[in-house]
Amino acid sequence: MHSKSDVRDWFPSEDGSLLQRKRIMELIEQMISGVDELKNPEAVNLKGEKRRDGDFYGQLVAQSQIPYEGAPMKEVNAELLQLLHGHPYHTKYFFTNILPMASIPGILGMLSAMLVNGNNLWDVYGPAGAEAEVRVMAMMSKLVGYDAGTSGGYTTWGGQGAIFSGLRIAIAKYDPNALKHGVPDNLYAFCSELAHYSLFKSMEASGIGSDHLIKVKALSDSSMDVADLRCKLAAVAVGGGVPVYIVATTGTTDAMGIDNVLQIRTVAEEFSKQFGLPCPHIHADSALGGFFAVFNDYDLEKNTQQFSPGVIGMLTSIQEKMRHLSLADSMCFDFQKLGQTPYVSSLFLLKNAADLGLLELDADETPYVGHRGYGEYHTGYTLECSRMASSISMYSSLLAFGVEGYQRLLAQFLEVNLQFRERLVAEIPEADIANPDNPGISTLIRIYPPDGPRFAEEIGGSSSWGVIERNNQLNERLFEKLGKHRDRMFFGDTKKHLLVKTVEGRQIPLYVSKFFVISPHTQPEHVPEIVHYLKECITQVCEQFVYQ
Ligand SMILES: *Cc1c(COP(=O)(O)O)cnc(C)c1O
Repeated sequence: MHSKSDVRDWFPSEDGSLLQRKRIMELIEQMISGVDELKNPEAVNLKGEKRRDGDFYGQLVAQSQIPYEGAPMKEVNAELLQLLHGHPYHTKYFFTNILPMASIPGILGMLSAMLVNGNNLWDVYGPAGAEAEVRVMAMMSKLVGYDAGTSGGYTTWGGQGAIFSGLRIAIAKYDPNALKHGVPDNLYAFCSELAHYSLFKSMEASGIGSDHLIKVKALSDSSMDVADLRCKLAAVAVGGGVPVYIVATTGTTDAMGIDNVLQIRTVAEEFSKQFGLPCPHIHADSALGGFFAVFNDYDLEKNTQQFSPGVIGMLTSIQEKMRHLSLADSMCFDFQKLGQTPYVSSLFLLKNAADLGLLELDADETPYVGHRGYGEYHTGYTLECSRMASSISMYSSLLAFGVEGYQRLLAQFLEVNLQFRERLVAEIPEADIANPDNPGISTLIRIYPPDGPRFAEEIGGSSSWGVIERNNQLNERLFEKLGKHRDRMFFGDTKKHLLVKTVEGRQIPLYVSKFFVISPHTQPEHVPEIVHYLKECITQVCEQFVYQ
C-alpha cells in the first residue's frame, strides 16, 4: 500500500511555509506557461485538438465519474489545460460581442480575494471584500456625479442582476408592503425595444409578468423615443396601471445606442405630476456603456491625451449623453465588461442608499449599507446570501488603470473602430454601416445586393417585406461564412438590430454582422488586413447568393 498524502497538502499553508509556497507557485507556473504554449497570435483559438461534433456532450456524460482516488495536482492541471484546447482567446482577431479579456490587475484582485476566501455577506466574514466594496462604490459614485455620502450599492451577478435589483427597489418604493403581501397586479415597467432581455426576465421572475413590460420604440440611432415613452406611460395610467420602473439603456448591447437619461427623467416627472402618481424608479442600464463615464470630465479641447480628431468627435457625442447618467436613480457598472475584470463582477449603484432599507429582511437588526461600524455591514438586502468579494478585483483594476488608463484603453477601441469604419466604406461597396450614428466600439455591418434599396431606404420605411427578408437572408449567408472561419477572425452577429417598418406597415428586424472592438491586442495597424479578409468573404457570399 502506498502512503497517503497529508490532507493539508491540498491547502495553502497556515504559517507561510516556503515549501508550500513553492509548490503553489510551481502549479501556477505550470498553468500559465501551459496556456502560453497554446497561444497562436495569428488565429483566434488556442491551439489543441477539440472535436465537438457528433455526440460530444453525450459522450462526456457517459465518461464522467468522480475518481475514487484523487490525482496529483500536476496531473489535474494537465487535465485543465486540456479543457482550454481550442478555446477562443482574445487575440487581435477577436471581435465578437462584449466578451473582454481579463486584465492582470483584475486577475490579481480575484486571486487576493481567493487567498482569504472571505464571504461578502458580512464584514466580519469578509472584511477585505466589504472594505473594497465601499471604496469601489464611492469611487464610481464620484465618477458619475452621485453624492458618495448618500449613495450605496453592492456587487452582484451581472448587469441582469442590477436590473433585477432596480426592479425590486422600484416595487418596494411604490408599495413597501409588497414584500409581505406580494406584488400588486397593476404595476408596469418600461424599456426600449432594443433593451437587453434582462428586464423581460426580471418581470417574469418578480411575478409581475412580462405582459406588464411595455416596450418603447427606438429611434434610428437605437436610443429610446421619449415621445413614445410619454404616450405609453399615459396609456398605462389611464388604464389603471402604475408605471414603477423605467430602464434607460445607456449603451445598447449591439449598437451602443445611448438613451437620453435627461429626457427620460423629464418625461417621467411630467407624467408623475400630471397623473398624481409617484415618479417611476429610473435605472440606467449602463452595463455596457457605463465605463465611458471615465470621459465625463475629459477636456476635449485641451485633449491632453492627444487622441485623434476622429476619436474626439466620437467622444463629443458620447460625453453629451453619458453626462446625464447621474439623473438615474440607479445604474450598473459591469466590470466584467469594460472594467476588464474576470467574471462575475458587476456593481449595482444606487443614488439613495436609504432605498435599500426597503428591502431589508429586518430593518432594525440589519442596517442598510456600509457607512457603518465593523460588524454591521450585513447585506440582508441582496438576493444572494453568500457573495464573492468581486469588489477586490474591481478595486485592483481601478487602482491599476486609473481614469487615465481606462481613457487610453477605450480610446484605442474607438480609434480601431473609427479606422475600420473608414476603410469599410472605402473598400466594400456592398456594405453599409447599420449604426452610423453611434460612435462607439462596435460597427454593425449590413450587406446588399448590387442593386436595390440600401440601409437608408430600409430604415426610412420605403422597402418591402420581401426585399428586407431577402437582404436578411443574404446577411445570414455572411454569418455562416464568417462563423465557419471564426477561428481565423471572430466576428459577431445579431438577428435583431432595429425594428423597421416595411411599406406594408409590418415590423421586421434587420440582420447584421458585428465588428466589436474588445481585445487590447487589436491595434489600428491591423485594420487593413481585417477589412481585406471581410471583403473576400463578402465578395464570395454575394457571388454565390441566388437572387430571387
Ligand atoms: C450585457 C448586458 C446586460 C447583461 O449583463 P450581464 O452582466 O451579462 O448580466 C444587460 N444590459 C446590457 C445593456 C448589456 O450590454
